[in-house]
Amino acid sequence: MKMSNKLNIAVIGGGASGLFAAISAKNENTDVTIYEKEKRVGRKILATGNGRCNMTNTTASYNDYHSLDIKFIYPTIERFWVDQTLDFFENIGILWKEEDDGKVYPYSDTASAVLDVLRQKLEKSGVITECEFGVKKIKKQNNQFIIEDKNGNRKRADRVIIATGGMAGAQLGSDGSGYKILEGFGHKITKLYPSLVQIRTETDTVKKLKGIKVNAKVSVGDKEKTGEVLFTDYGISGPPVFWLSSYIEGEKEIALDIMPEYSYTDISDMITKRVNTLGDIPLEDFFVGMLNKRVSQALLKHIGVEPLSRLASSLSRKEIQAISSIIKNFKLQIKGTSTWNNAQVTKGGADVSQFNADTMESKLVKGLYCCGEVLDVDGDCGGYNLQWAWSSGYIAGIYASGRDMEG
Ligand SMILES: Cc1cc2nc3c(=O)[nH]c(=O)nc-3n(C[C@H](O)[C@H](O)[C@H](O)COP(=O)(O)OP(=O)(O)OC[C@H]3O[C@@H](n4cnc5c(N)ncnc54)[C@H](O)[C@@H]3O)c2cc1C
Repeated sequence: MKMSNKLNIAVIGGGASGLFAAISAKNENTDVTIYEKEKRVGRKILATGNGRCNMTNTTASYNDYHSLDIKFIYPTIERFWVDQTLDFFENIGILWKEEDDGKVYPYSDTASAVLDVLRQKLEKSGVITECEFGVKKIKKQNNQFIIEDKNGNRKRADRVIIATGGMAGAQLGSDGSGYKILEGFGHKITKLYPSLVQIRTETDTVKKLKGIKVNAKVSVGDKEKTGEVLFTDYGISGPPVFWLSSYIEGEKEIALDIMPEYSYTDISDMITKRVNTLGDIPLEDFFVGMLNKRVSQALLKHIGVEPLSRLASSLSRKEIQAISSIIKNFKLQIKGTSTWNNAQVTKGGADVSQFNADTMESKLVKGLYCCGEVLDVDGDCGGYNLQWAWSSGYIAGIYASGRDMEG
């Protein structure tokens, strides 16, 4: 039975996109309830940006996103994007600052501030939050949605917004259950991959480098990124690796340039000169001051320039060339990515061709909306994924409430 004459909107999932959807859906003509499976809403927001929340990026454009149909995000970019999001946050109390490469953080450097102001806004607006209600399935009967949890408890709604996130960071709530709910309505889910995640590689050499950080230019196919790379016992990590993890599908090798500021010729000249002046030093210590000692030793072993007790003066011209090459082009076989729990975002999701890009409404089921990471839209590292969550959530909420972006 209907409790009031107001439009009853259920938001499934209280993450970044669900909180924005609930806030924009709530008005004097709507009742809005967030159903969240965890004990509290917004757990993932607290973990973002290493606890600082990289809320958005002032440079965000469609180039920073991936989807089978990237045009799907154009209407969102045109109508509710970075400026509108930052105005929204300012209005609810967030002072923000811009750092390198357009990355935006709350001035307080605390992700909890972002969640706190959103929760205050939800409360002030009269949005109801029901936690520990993990939705298992949703049916539509006589223009009403029946929402059921695993214990068979039922809720009803006139409109439903699916904001369950993807599979990444599953320990923070998003376990992929949203895909099953959508499949129940006939929606297609594209192939899913963990993204913005560490890359697993052959381990013979990297294991010996475990814990070492180098500044490197990292490339996969025609994509490259420079930054700090961390060697681990299973492969490599660090900002450029996370960024490139979106592009490894179908690729076999990842290459590291460990001295990106120098050309191959610069390096081979440098080594030749060092041999002339420091030739009495054994190879194990010869590169100290030029390269990390353990890195140089591992690279020498990798190309078979051994034993390391040899004096540097014994290096042949061919060996100097081989060392210069490996420094500029240290190739590792890709074995895959790290796990979903370690990933920041899901690549793939609900096929966007089955949703209206202007309203986020399903083309298959009237009154069913989707937003955030559960859709097949993922961004690069740098605040882009939260931006998509805020924006798509805002738009889904507006249209679910029966209004439009004109007011
Ligand atoms: C460690 C980490 C750090 C990150 N840092 C950044 C960053 O700094 N900047 C950035 O832009 N992006 C970052 N991201 C990515 C970003 O957080 C996500 O893309 C974004 O939160 C997605 O928002 P969402 O609302 O779609 O999904 P989520 O935030 O995952 O929220 C989904 C919510 O739905 C709930 N839920 C799931 N299934 C159900 C169900 N069946 N019933 C009820 N509730 C359900 C979940 O518990 C969760 O609360 C990070 C991700 C991780 C994991």
